[in-house]
Amino acid sequence: MVLTRPKLPLELREVADPRPATGQVLLRVLACGVCRTDLHLADGELTASLPVIPGHQIVGEVLEGPPELGARAGVPWLAWTCGECRFCTSGRENLCPRARFTGRDIDGGFAELAVADARYCFPLPERYPAAQAAPLLCAGLIGARALRLTGDPERLGLYGFGASAHIVSQVAAAQGRRVFAFTRPGDADGQRFARGLGAEWAGDSGETPPEELDAAIIFAPVGELVPIALRAVAPGGTVVCAGIHMSDIPPLRYADLWQERTLRSVANLTRQDGRDFLAMAPRVPVRTEVTTYSLEKANRALEDLRAGRFRGAGVLMIGAAPG
Ligand SMILES: [Zn+2]
Ligand SMILES: [Zn+2]
Repeated sequence: MVLTRPKLPLELREVADPRPATGQVLLRVLACGVCRTDLHLADGELTASLPVIPGHQIVGEVLEGPPELGARAGVPWLAWTCGECRFCTSGRENLCPRARFTGRDIDGGFAELAVADARYCFPLPERYPAAQAAPLLCAGLIGARALRLTGDPERLGLYGFGASAHIVSQVAAAQGRRVFAFTRPGDADGQRFARGLGAEWAGDSGETPPEELDAAIIFAPVGELVPIALRAVAPGGTVVCAGIHMSDIPPLRYADLWQERTLRSVANLTRQDGRDFLAMAPRVPVRTEVTTYSLEKANRALEDLRAGRFRGAGVLMIGAAPG
């Protein structure tokens, strides 16, 4: 499924089989998660090298590759970094200015076959079938990075309860944190879903939570939530914006930032984030709830994501049986 131009549906195309270059693995794609970033790319809110095959949560069967990867590998958003810049050499390869990203700069996993640089692939925990493993690779991984950047909050707010929050909620609850979930106004089903995954309270995004929060993560791409979240956190609290794109933030009142509140974003992932999270997920244990689609239904999956029509994560089932 190929993104040829922004704002057009992905196009089902027969393309030449990719051939692995030196250092690359060849994968038969079993499943590939759908992420809001794919929607931002399709909508032209992020630039991509077009045409491109989107998809950066690839679970693949290794057809050609180094033995240490095993039979099944995961391919995340971070596809390549330079290894030489001040960011790469200081443990911050997620900020490498020359970084390349799966499904944006190189073809991703909305396809039957994919190639990836073996150094950026992960072995996957065995307990997860392909469909359930796919959302770990971005929703889980970048969610866990955002959670780490909140510090050590006792009371954690999650704004937008989609694929990422449904995983982060489980991790945070297992760490003993108290989770407060905010959904689209009136989304009673989403609020029930959140309470079933470790949230002690769930309400509408504009609501004041029953207690002050120590930190909040904003997953929804909605800039209006920034001042709302800042007003919900206690002095010294942190608000992390976890999305790659967000609508404009309205003018901030300094009083909302005052008292040592911190506002920051989280960008991409490092390979260490991936290793840490994939080791942690089975220990929590994180359970992912997925809605599956065939490869040809990728446009439907993106529209359902936009409209909030499924709970948890959307996953394209390609070489694996529907989960
Ligand atoms: Zn993603
Ligand atoms: Zn670099």
